[in-house]
Amino acid sequence: MTRRVVLIGHPVAHSLSGAMQQAAFDELGIDASYELWDRAPIDLADSIAELRGDEFLGANVTIPHKERVVPMVEKLTEEAQAIGAVNTLTREGKRLVGHNTDVAGFKVALDHLVGRQKMPRQAVVLGAGGGARAIVYGLIREGFHRVIVFNRHLHRAEGLVKHFSRSASHMELRAMPWHESIIESEIAKTKVLINATSIGLTSDDSPVGAEVLHDELLVLDLIYARTQLLKDAAAAGATTSDGELMLLHQGAAAFTLWTGQPAPLGLMQTKLAEARAGGVRSAEGEPTGEPATEAAATPE
Ligand code: NDP
Repeated sequence: MTRRVVLIGHPVAHSLSGAMQQAAFDELGIDASYELWDRAPIDLADSIAELRGDEFLGANVTIPHKERVVPMVEKLTEEAQAIGAVNTLTREGKRLVGHNTDVAGFKVALDHLVGRQKMPRQAVVLGAGGGARAIVYGLIREGFHRVIVFNRHLHRAEGLVKHFSRSASHMELRAMPWHESIIESEIAKTKVLINATSIGLTSDDSPVGAEVLHDELLVLDLIYARTQLLKDAAAAGATTSDGELMLLHQGAAAFTLWTGQPAPLGLMQTKLAEARAGGVRSAEGEPTGEPATEAAATPE
């Protein structure tokens, strides 16, 4: 029986996960197919229920479902519980287990971005969705002293801060309203800027104006494309990375959870780069991608 692994999101057409995961299954001789399921929030519960079938090895969960899926599974790993978001599912009989491999991917991406410099202690995070939760958890664990979270809907950022109130009790973790002047003043004071919004995923928009970026910044955009934010940051002299390394390493960790085998990382990275060079697909199916950046293409 060909086993199935699905990516559940809305949209999912932009995703490059299929290219790397299918190649990894084929390389290791695992009879499995990786499918993209575009499912609106209203259909999420039914889609999750379907995954309890014997043919499924598991799933990835992406935008905008990572938090919604938490109460739909029987078990959460300690990390998924602590983060409050799930990006990978495995099956134990009819029971589904929720994992979060984004945080492992983020750690690799952050280390790469910082390079040989001393790890900074202050960060500005844009966004408060499932991806942002893994980022904030990773920053807390990394020993950051001050993390400011901006989100279009302030209540979601406040909810995120409340969620981490205990684990962040020793540091300053604050939600702030999405006002240009406040964002500008915080970016002026920080070293690390992370875009965990989906602004730039299917358009050339940037979450912040080019004029607020400075050359001391280390900028990570979770989107795996050379977004307007990254172009503006590079033009300002900042160090930049896109989401490709995070995508690669969260995917490798998920692969191991489904198969019990080490992921063929080099092959997965090559497949990602190839898929990307062919043009990232936007939600509407229009090619929007650009060739991989130097940073993202560096083998780990
Ligand atoms: P969610 O749907 O959970 O969150 C989306 C976030 O984007 C929210 O903070 C939302 O704000 C914000 N947002 C969306 N549109 C706008 C807008 N027009 N203006 C301002 N804010 C906006 O998604 P995820 O957290 O799962 O993913 C966020 C991004 O990170 C996606 O682009 C995803 O591809 C990327 N990602 C990449 C990963 C990687 O491995 N490279 C891993 C995880 C995520 P609001 O709450 O106000 O709606």
